[in-house]
Amino acid sequence: MEIYQIVLIAIAAAIGAVILFMILRTIFTRPPKSNAKQFTPVEADADKLLEHVSGAIQIPTVSMVEEFVGQDKPFLDFKKYLEKTFPLIHKTASVTVINGYSLVYHFKGNDSSLLPACFLSHQDVVPATPDGWDYPPFSGKITDDGYVYGRGSQDMKGHMFALLEGMEALLKEGKTFSRDVYFCFGHDEEPGTSFEGAPKIVEYFVEKKMKFEFVLDEGGTIMDGKMLGVKGMLAMIGICEKGNSDIEISVKLKGGHASNPKRKTAVGQLGVALAKIQKHPMPTRWTTVTKYTFKEISKRASGPLKFVMVNRDILSPLVKKIFTVASSMTNALVRTTFSPTMLWGSDARNTLPNEVKANINTRIITGETIEDVEKYLRKLLGKGVEVKTVAYTAPTPVGDIKSYAYKSLSDTIDEVFPNTATIPYMFIAASDARFYFPVSDNVFRFGPFLNSLDDQNRIHGINERLHKDQLKTATQFFARFIENTCVKKD
Ligand SMILES: [Zn+2]
Repeated sequence: MEIYQIVLIAIAAAIGAVILFMILRTIFTRPPKSNAKQFTPVEADADKLLEHVSGAIQIPTVSMVEEFVGQDKPFLDFKKYLEKTFPLIHKTASVTVINGYSLVYHFKGNDSSLLPACFLSHQDVVPATPDGWDYPPFSGKITDDGYVYGRGSQDMKGHMFALLEGMEALLKEGKTFSRDVYFCFGHDEEPGTSFEGAPKIVEYFVEKKMKFEFVLDEGGTIMDGKMLGVKGMLAMIGICEKGNSDIEISVKLKGGHASNPKRKTAVGQLGVALAKIQKHPMPTRWTTVTKYTFKEISKRASGPLKFVMVNRDILSPLVKKIFTVASSMTNALVRTTFSPTMLWGSDARNTLPNEVKANINTRIITGETIEDVEKYLRKLLGKGVEVKTVAYTAPTPVGDIKSYAYKSLSDTIDEVFPNTATIPYMFIAASDARFYFPVSDNVFRFGPFLNSLDDQNRIHGINERLHKDQLKTATQFFARFIENTCVKKD
């Protein structure tokens, strides 16, 4: 046999072995067995829950920024509404008001060896005008088919009320707590430019040198696996959050009268820079978290999709490519993204500006830093373009999926939502949770709501709504999770 023939056979054998390995690995990847415990959910009257949320929606707690600065009456009314709606909670917990409007509820436990638990929600909502809504956004209209319509029904008064209702139900059953439980309701999550709520609550805890076993905020929800070609339901738990920064890029070139422009103008050069950013996004990368996401989803996948997911490490370049083109959402999971959001130029139609600027809202993937991003942009755009970061929060640390808190969360999901897999993932938006790292290593983002794509699209949009069945299960979820993690066992 010729030497080249031996080499060819060896290569073929190696490829064959790898393919066999990939096939076997696919076959032996299976969903874990559920070991859900039987339990009796707390009593929850769905219609009553819906009415309570309707009342909450009717108090327009729009974040107090821009034209809403100083409009605090809704927040004061909202506090009173909570007191009226949840009598047992207000009898049991001490309530501390932070910075005028943020609320911290403290339920005392009797085992001081356990770190306290912390549940977050925000009271504020984004503004809404009635245009395009089937019912006015602050009407809290309840429809015959069991929905409550209105701003905040999903984001996030529904979540907050499910938490409160769950707690109220436990107190009604006479439950007491092993560990201390805190509910923290900030008042300025939505604008992203105001830091008067959650950050002040965290300062309050830091001053008291407090640490929490875990912090749970909004973030991932439950989605039908079909959306990803997977059987069953997927409970998405945000275990980290991308960094969020605003980077200004600017070009300075002497302007003047628009009747005799130079060949290169500041606006033209800024346009070139923006086109470069669009054409050359930052390179893709796998983060540990995205690897976890893949690993867990692959256990539920089938057919060719399962083959690709299980063998993601070997097929990495192909999978990354698929992610970048499949959707803007999957693209955001594998890279730092640039969104040009604002432009500043001349004040007059017939004047060439001396300086033009664009704001690039940048979401930084776990593992990269603002310095990496600035370096990339400077190299890409060259000398004539100035790059300056004007606001910045770093990607958050990653919560531990082997922790007691994550495991309890996962077990409770298994109990309350049968046939639902828990999937850890990187949250690509921002939440109040990002401020809580100084007080806990285990900060997770999960709302116990089964959400379709249609539901998702209504958040911050028109016809935001919530169904009474969603509210009921969410209430039972929170009650069960608190019971599993914080209630004294007899
Ligand atoms: Zn929210």
